[in-house]
Amino acid sequence: MPFCSVLVTSPVDKAYDYAIPEGMTVEVGDYVLVPLGPRAVHGVVWAVSDQSDVPAARVKNILEKYDMPPMEPIMRQFIEWVARYNLAPKGAVLKMALSVPQALGVPQPMTGYVLGDGKIDLNEAQKRVVAVSQDGLPRRLAEISKAADVSSSVIKTLVKHRVLEAIDLFAKAPCAKPNPDFDVPQLSKGQQAAADQILEAVRGEKGQTFLLDGVTGAGKTEVYFEAIAEIITQGKQALILMPEIALSNSFITRFQKRFGCTPALWHSSMTPAQRRSTWRAVALGQTKVVVGARSALFLPYADLGLLVVDEEHDQAYKQEEILIYHARDMAVVRGSLSKIPVVLASATPSLESIQNAQDGRYTHLVLPDRYGGARKPDIHVLDLRKDKPERQHFISPVLKDKIEETLIKKQQVLLFLNRRGFAPLTLCRTCGHRIECPKCTAWLVEHRRTHHLHCHHCGYSMKQPEACPSCGDQDSMVACGPGVERIADEVKEYFPEARALIMASDVLDTHDKLSNALADIREGRVDIVIGTQVIAKGHHFPLMTCVGIIDADLGLSGGDLRATERSFQLLHQVAGRAGREELPGEVFLQTYNAEQRVMQMLAEDDRDGFLEAEANERIRAHMPPFSRLAAIIISGPKEDVTRDFAISLGRSAPRADGVRILGPAQAQMYRIRGKYRQRILVQADKNLDIQKMIAQWIGGIKVPSNIRVQVDIDPQNFL
Ligand code: ADP
Ligand code: ZN
Repeated sequence: MPFCSVLVTSPVDKAYDYAIPEGMTVEVGDYVLVPLGPRAVHGVVWAVSDQSDVPAARVKNILEKYDMPPMEPIMRQFIEWVARYNLAPKGAVLKMALSVPQALGVPQPMTGYVLGDGKIDLNEAQKRVVAVSQDGLPRRLAEISKAADVSSSVIKTLVKHRVLEAIDLFAKAPCAKPNPDFDVPQLSKGQQAAADQILEAVRGEKGQTFLLDGVTGAGKTEVYFEAIAEIITQGKQALILMPEIALSNSFITRFQKRFGCTPALWHSSMTPAQRRSTWRAVALGQTKVVVGARSALFLPYADLGLLVVDEEHDQAYKQEEILIYHARDMAVVRGSLSKIPVVLASATPSLESIQNAQDGRYTHLVLPDRYGGARKPDIHVLDLRKDKPERQHFISPVLKDKIEETLIKKQQVLLFLNRRGFAPLTLCRTCGHRIECPKCTAWLVEHRRTHHLHCHHCGYSMKQPEACPSCGDQDSMVACGPGVERIADEVKEYFPEARALIMASDVLDTHDKLSNALADIREGRVDIVIGTQVIAKGHHFPLMTCVGIIDADLGLSGGDLRATERSFQLLHQVAGRAGREELPGEVFLQTYNAEQRVMQMLAEDDRDGFLEAEANERIRAHMPPFSRLAAIIISGPKEDVTRDFAISLGRSAPRADGVRILGPAQAQMYRIRGKYRQRILVQADKNLDIQKMIAQWIGGIKVPSNIRVQVDIDPQNFL
């Protein structure tokens, strides 16, 4: 009797045995439905054999086999690799790959609408529909009506004029026929040289990782588009990973201009039907190019030929919930398993990638100049000890003057502050009480728009109190420090005529709102943008010539391993928004630490000097990328039980040469959502197998049921 072992999409590591019912043929990689306890779960056949260790009477039958091509062997290897590296159960990794099990069944027809080729003069409501549909994702009538805030008759009119086209959501694969020759740019010499090296790897089907390192505006996108064109010609698939926030309509439009169609998208705000159709088309090999957030790495590509990780240094690639992994690092692994090229692109590469390039593991491609001779912005450090803002204000006199000059020239200003809301702290003037989250080690952030205080960690919120919750004094609560809303108020006071726009994730909480805001900026309907990191990524605004960084010191506090590196990357990236075309840009960094290395090196535009100094510090401290780190996070609802368990876990830690165990210690965020948190940090020499060591250590310990132990390999976050 034939058996097979099936890995199911549950957090287990083991593949379970099932019998193959008569009349069913099953091969390795097939997608199946199997019984597990009282439920039916989806899974993938991991092995087929003639025998099972499980007594025949207890082996259950496979319930259903889906009519899909089997999962590629490389993909199965990849799932195993990711599980082993991140110390996660294989089934949990499979769950990311099989995130839309509904896609396995043969779909019923479902009508959706995409842009068609009809052209008419559009009224405002019709324009909103077109803007919503710009990303190429098919939407159902009700979805368009909601997203564009129009009645269904508006949509029907557009269909009549063929501005919208009705399609069967599942009949037409997204990005099935991109045209590699649709609009080929003339590359600069430097771009061509970089593209040639990647093309050689693509043609030679070589597993090779490139670090495409070029200042913002250098034209990195055009370079990797050449490699994508070649992949399309070969009939294979390509994936471009981006931080979720950078997945904007402007990138989609650019792709469309180059290849004549929109790419297939993969991000968190897609509807179930969109996911279903994309997942299927990717697995069937019909979709050629996917542009997606980190989870797109786990789609079951039929024939992946190239991987691009744009903004490779971005923290958003690290997933810290459920399954902890780093999508950039896993992309490199995926590339080497499949022996396909991987392109990591950035203007401020991570220290890890620079080190890999210097050690010869990655091929370093450098584009030193902005495309078309656009000048880099001049960066000025404003010392807030000398150039003091007014009381209870945050814009210094020098910056204020520069904003004014820019507005007179009818150009745009960006004021950057990486903090949502109005004020990060509310304090009682009478008794000094600070309003904290009842469930987290965090202050509540005032959002004046909603008259609420919010916790940015757990989502708790309360109405802004009129009296102090501690001493009961009336009208004694004051807001301390700025968030973007407060800067917007200050802008209104100083420049009442200017059109200001706040760009923050809580205000622009859907892709559609974000896209509309970006279009408003690009098309000059905004004078001053006040933004958090939402604005920092990848956008290109020709009129933006003045960038003011309200608090350049913000990212430097907290003192974790990468605080300075991240701060440098973020500020550099924000500065890169200034003067991207003919108009020269200027950047002003407001700081109380004008002597700080980050400020100096930003002002001198000395990125390599910064990286070198940073590397030397890491070598001295024996920190990554010159050693390996793993964090063990122990959390539970009872403070003493959690602490005692962490201490006993720490005591049983392996003692070995080249390994140091630090902690347990209270995490910096000691409480999140009511759970107490302790951390242990494992630091090991580079050549040691830290995963094996941790698996042996933790695998042998019984964890009490109300305590959670998470392992974070290569931690990015030290909270
Ligand atoms: P990066 O990704 O390196 O920041 P981009 O790829 O966004 O840079 O390029 C910056 C700008 O220069 C874009 O507007 C892009 O369209 C333009 N550009 C880059 N290379 C070319 C080229 N070869 N021909 C025409 N325009 C180009
Ligand atoms: Zn909270």
